[in-house]
Amino acid sequence: MNVCYQNKDLECVNRSSLDSIQTAGLQFSVAQALKTKFYAARLKGHVSSPEDIRSLNDLKRIPFTTKDDLRESYTDGILATEFKHVVRLHTSSGTTGVPTVIYHTQKDLNNWTELMERSLIASGATCEDIFQNMMTYGMFTGGLGFHYGAEKLGILVIPTGSGNTKRQLQLMKDFKTTLVHATPSYMFHMASTMNEHGFSMKDFNLKKAYIGGEPHSENTRKKIEELFGIEAYNSFGLSEMNGPGVAFECVYKTGLHVWEDSYILEVIDPQSGELVKDGEIGEIVFTTLRREATPILRYRTRDLASVIPGVCPCGRTHRRLSRIAGRTDDMLIINGANVFPSQIEQILMKVPEVGTNYMILVSKDGALDKLTVQVEIHSKTFHGDMSELGVLKHKIKDELKASIMINPSVELHEPGSLPQFEMKAKRVVDSRIKI
Ligand code: AMP
Ligand code: ZN
Repeated sequence: MNVCYQNKDLECVNRSSLDSIQTAGLQFSVAQALKTKFYAARLKGHVSSPEDIRSLNDLKRIPFTTKDDLRESYTDGILATEFKHVVRLHTSSGTTGVPTVIYHTQKDLNNWTELMERSLIASGATCEDIFQNMMTYGMFTGGLGFHYGAEKLGILVIPTGSGNTKRQLQLMKDFKTTLVHATPSYMFHMASTMNEHGFSMKDFNLKKAYIGGEPHSENTRKKIEELFGIEAYNSFGLSEMNGPGVAFECVYKTGLHVWEDSYILEVIDPQSGELVKDGEIGEIVFTTLRREATPILRYRTRDLASVIPGVCPCGRTHRRLSRIAGRTDDMLIINGANVFPSQIEQILMKVPEVGTNYMILVSKDGALDKLTVQVEIHSKTFHGDMSELGVLKHKIKDELKASIMINPSVELHEPGSLPQFEMKAKRVVDSRIKI
């Protein structure tokens, strides 16, 4: 196996030197955090200056940060630099109302680019590759994050963004694309619609796919690899920690190396907040170590995974995470978009003709995810004929689409016809294959 590094000394650094790098990074992040309105208040009584951090043991003195904290800090509660030094911001994709915002200075963007370049090198990409980036560009961090990292490595980038499958396939053929970045669902979608667009696998020169943005199993990876005759690498990130380039698989594909010079990784018991043992599943908590504009300390990601014990044959000492096994909250990821059941409820409950009962069904439609919202109509609206209600159906569909950014299928049901719950309601039925 050909193992390449961006910076072998740093990637294979011994753990005690990595501890020192992390301690210095944590001191820096605390210094930055104390300049923000949010952390100046939050850290009171816990940590009052970077000197309070003498070793990584002092991390425990810092309270956790949650998604709600970030929302409540909208727009500039967690901004540690002057506006004039900020060169970009990203807001989160699927949120209930208020989004979260992450600012970047030029240095922050350079660091992010460096981590993405490192990730690509770790998976064996080189400047001879041709990379078609099929992730959405814009506020979603998947597009731009990969883009800059690949350019830095000297790769020819084709910035197609998502969708328009026929054009994607044509470009893949014409420019002999060797690398793609897409959600696993989109890889399946491409494979299943290739023939109808007039292409076959032998038209392509594809070698690798980076798949991420949504949970997927080892079987999904294998299927993608077999369908396309390629290697597929898992890419993990979240917008609060920049986006992609937080954890990435090396050529051995034995788990996601977390770039620990840039992030402190903790895996905790979501109830007690205590660290769990390696190999045990817990909630991932990240702390930024190098970000100037928006430092984030001990962020509860709500993603569940475990640290893979042992060392990777590639020689990197940065620990590996397992696949994401689920989430502590109820966020659904539908074709890569984050959707909270509470968003759907909020919209439905605003419509006067809607009753109180509804169900959210998520299933597979071919390779893609499908969202169906079943809604009981209000008894005052129901006059015995469901066929009169086409306008209402469209109204609900449009309102949902405007809020969650994806197009659900809406079914109207007679009053009293959906399942009733005596205990806590279980309104979400997700029949997609579980990990
Ligand atoms: P966003 O902030 O919109 O980029 O969404 C980030 C979330 O997407 C993460 O917290 C995970 O829940 C999910 N996610 C991203 N990459 C992966 C991956 N490779 N496997 C599983 N889930 C992922
Ligand atoms: Zn490795």
